Amino acid sequence: MPPVLRVKNVLMIFAIAMACCLLAEAAADTRKKPSASRPCNCKKDSVAKKSGKAAKSRKKTVSVPCHPRGYVDPAIQKNLNAAFRDMKKAGIRPAVTSAWRSSAKQASLHRCSNSAKCRIQHPGLYRAKAPGTSLHEAGFAVDIAGVAVGRRGAKRLTPRGRKIVQIMRKNGFAWRYGLADPVHFEADPRRHGYKSAKQAIKVSQSRCQVKFTSASKARPKARRKTGRG
Ligand SMILES: [Zn+2]
Repeated sequence: MPPVLRVKNVLMIFAIAMACCLLAEAAADTRKKPSASRPCNCKKDSVAKKSGKAAKSRKKTVSVPCHPRGYVDPAIQKNLNAAFRDMKKAGIRPAVTSAWRSSAKQASLHRCSNSAKCRIQHPGLYRAKAPGTSLHEAGFAVDIAGVAVGRRGAKRLTPRGRKIVQIMRKNGFAWRYGLADPVHFEADPRRHGYKSAKQAIKVSQSRCQVKFTSASKARPKARRKTGRG
């Protein structure tokens, strides 16, 4: 073979080898690219799923009064605390069965107390006043269990009940309905900065509203219906 042809053959082999190397590298790159891009796609998916959930929960927004269970107006909290201290000294552990109520709850109790069937189902319920008229809606009334015994219409004070009535009166709470609603004690809003019971109810019912993102959170728990005022 002449020397010129030999050099051409060597160059051709070298060129083929280089081409093979470049093709192999290109193939390796295309294998890497999809796995590198996958995490970005997953993140987008999760963000899309999260925003979808948020949109769903925003749909169920409701307002409810948000005073906690056992709430009374701050103006009478000291009186109630003093009464509880006196009871403790007398060896009595008071069981408060009802304090502040929303007007919706009062309406429900009022409906129940007007139904013979519902009253049989809830023997602890006395004649509940119409919504907008009960001092429970103002945070000026509390119901305390264990004051009287006996069937409805023939109740009598227990020794413990007599002591509770005495202590509550001493601390500014009237036993307003006596044995007709023995659990009920209330203070007068007019002695604590309000013009009337109606005004105190209006203030308490509108002072505190909160928005929940889920309707299920706003649904009140089923509780035993008790009390009157
Ligand atoms: Zn009551």
